[in-house]
Amino acid sequence: MATVESRDVVIIGSGPAGLTAAVYAARANLAPLLIEGFSAGGQLMLTTMVENWPGYRDGIMGPALISELRAQAQRFGAEIRTGQVTSVDLHHRPFHVNLSEGGPISARALIIATGASARLLGLPSERALVGHGVSTCATCDGFFFRNRPIAIVGGGDSAMEEAIFLTKFASKVSVIHRRDKLRASKIMQEKAFANPKIEFHWNSEVDEVRDVASGAVSSLVLRDTVSGATRELAVDGLFVAIGHVPNTELFTGRLDLDANGYIRTHTGTRTNVSGAFACGDVQDHVYRQAITAAGSGCMAALDAERYLEGLPGHVEVSAASSAYGSHH
Ligand code: NAP
Repeated sequence: MATVESRDVVIIGSGPAGLTAAVYAARANLAPLLIEGFSAGGQLMLTTMVENWPGYRDGIMGPALISELRAQAQRFGAEIRTGQVTSVDLHHRPFHVNLSEGGPISARALIIATGASARLLGLPSERALVGHGVSTCATCDGFFFRNRPIAIVGGGDSAMEEAIFLTKFASKVSVIHRRDKLRASKIMQEKAFANPKIEFHWNSEVDEVRDVASGAVSSLVLRDTVSGATRELAVDGLFVAIGHVPNTELFTGRLDLDANGYIRTHTGTRTNVSGAFACGDVQDHVYRQAITAAGSGCMAALDAERYLEGLPGHVEVSAASSAYGSHH
């Protein structure tokens, strides 16, 4: 029989939650294995300047912050491996994590930090034109729209941040929002309102993205949510910034999820399966900040450490190397 690689702690996900869990678990001498998928680093890889991560008064670029966190986790002995997790068996102990390549990995404790992915409007024409003028990542694709008119749909902080960023390239940025008030924070609203290249289309929904036949975005059909009237807006690109959906498909049917698919946690980061912990955006639809994700990653590592200490056959780690012994 093939030998199964066996770990005390396996972390799935490589955003601020997973990487912070790796720092803490590594410092607790648990030699964690962190599995990162093909969009490693999570949503911070798609942002530019992060100005609200404590300790960086002038801000830090999202990808630079991830790269620092990775190096910090590795410095303390965390192993980071690229792979696609295809299934997780939470029915047996230890748990089994199966990857698309290589054998299964057994885990005495599992930390789930799989985050959330960009939500799409759900229009067939939008789906058909993803990568051909429709994008969910302003920082990745903004560059392609130099001196061209584009639209962004959404009224939250992401939409405002991306709209402002896109004005560096585009000739005009039309914000399409389904209500007459933004959800974004006051400061982001003020920045967006003050930008002369941004124009707002209130009470408007996108009915169709044209032109699928030519394989490029040429206009949007907008519907007024109050009058029902439709109109056409000529744009060369559409950015969709309407929030995220949690990446929990690996766990449906096994872990308790809320109505929107987020993992339910209790007393810290515990899930309904003892030994499986969840942190970051996969279980948080309220705060969703890099710093809160990191904070919950820390909690998950401490919860996992405590859980492992309570298992039969546990060997005490010296106080000096324990996460509890080295918080500060
Ligand atoms: P969000 O706050 O949930 O906003 C999503 C926006 O998309 C809302 O305006 C919503 O409209 C709209 N929307 C949702 N579904 C839609 C649909 N099917 N069709 C049309 N519009 C739709 O998401 P977010 O902007 O991604 O922000 C997520 C979290 O990250 C928030 O906590 C935010 O504060 C944080 N964040 C912070 C910063 C920053 O501090 N600089 C930057 C980015 C994100 P309604 O308003 O009508 O619901």
